[in-house]
Amino acid sequence: MNERPSKWSINDREPLDRWHWMGGKVVLLGDAAHAMLPHLGAGAGQSLEDGWVLGRAVGEYLRSDGQGSSHFESLESTAALYQAVRLPRAQKTQATSRAAGDTYEMQAPDMLEKSFEECCGLIAERTREMMKWVWEEDLDAAYEKVSDEGLHAEGRPNGEDSQQRAHISTDGEARPAP
Ligand SMILES: Cc1cc2nc3c(=O)[nH]c(=O)nc-3n(C[C@H](O)[C@H](O)[C@H](O)COP(=O)(O)OP(=O)(O)OC[C@H]3O[C@@H](n4cnc5c(N)ncnc54)[C@H](O)[C@@H]3O)c2cc1C
Repeated sequence: MNERPSKWSINDREPLDRWHWMGGKVVLLGDAAHAMLPHLGAGAGQSLEDGWVLGRAVGEYLRSDGQGSSHFESLESTAALYQAVRLPRAQKTQATSRAAGDTYEMQAPDMLEKSFEECCGLIAERTREMMKWVWEEDLDAAYEKVSDEGLHAEGRPNGEDSQQRAHISTDGEARPAP
């Protein structure tokens, strides 16, 4: 074993409230929008999900020629639809990645007093749960649900408020935004 292993720091970022500016001409996706810790192996996958949804929304905007659904009356409303579909799920993935890191290292708050064997059982159980929702999302169904429900003015799905968006806490627990 190397006597002097090197250390790499890994960083994520706090959730952003907004991913689009200048009337939809500037739109964030990928790590620029939601850099996350690598413990779920999900950062690139989330970036691809952004690309799929943004591509679908912009394609519909270009084909609609400003007619039909109110989502596509402007570039800004199109960007708002993209944000409404993707932001809650990407931020939940950020928060869960942080929680996964603490779980793998047995540093989740409820693991600190437990034995190694007890923690191993919890790691297996929680990893299964965390991976399941990351990998089993139906992106087009999520897009159509938000598209059908409509948006608030700020570009969030109707019925969703800040309580439902994931917040990354310093102890690694995924919990609703304050
Ligand atoms: C250790 C580690 C392990 C990971 N493991 C996984 C995994 O198993 N599965 C997974 O899905 N994800 C994983 N990820 C996350 C994944 O790598 C990122 O989420 C993904 O690369 C983000 O893609 P992106 O295109 O948004 O950003 P990036 O890949 O960072 O691409 C941004 C590009 O922009 C360029 N750039 C920056 N500034 C400028 C500028 N001013 N002008 C021109 N170009 C510029 C950069 O050089 C870079 O090429 C891991 C990340 C890390 C750090």
